[in-house]
Amino acid sequence: MPNYSFRCAQGCAFDAIYPMSEVPSEVECRVCGSSAKRGITAPHLSAAGSAAFGLMDRAAKSAHEPAVVDRIPGRGPGKTQRTTQNPLHAKLPRA
Ligand SMILES: [Zn+2]
Repeated sequence: MPNYSFRCAQGCAFDAIYPMSEVPSEVECRVCGSSAKRGITAPHLSAAGSAAFGLMDRAAKSAHEPAVVDRIPGRGPGKTQRTTQNPLHAKLPRA
């Protein structure tokens, strides 16, 4: 459910969760008891399950349990490996 921000006339700010269809525009302030108006910020919808959340999760995980590799990813072992002994092959154009 979305989380809405409220702010009362005294300046107290707090968040409350309401179903989107039942969110009041004014509630009683949780701190001082006066009336608090709903902010005009967008509701904070849950990020769980989204692609962005998965990315943040993986980034956080790599900080304390990184994937173990035995060589630099995207590279072969060491220098370019020779696959032929024919000296004429060395004159062929390289990609
Ligand atoms: Zn207040």
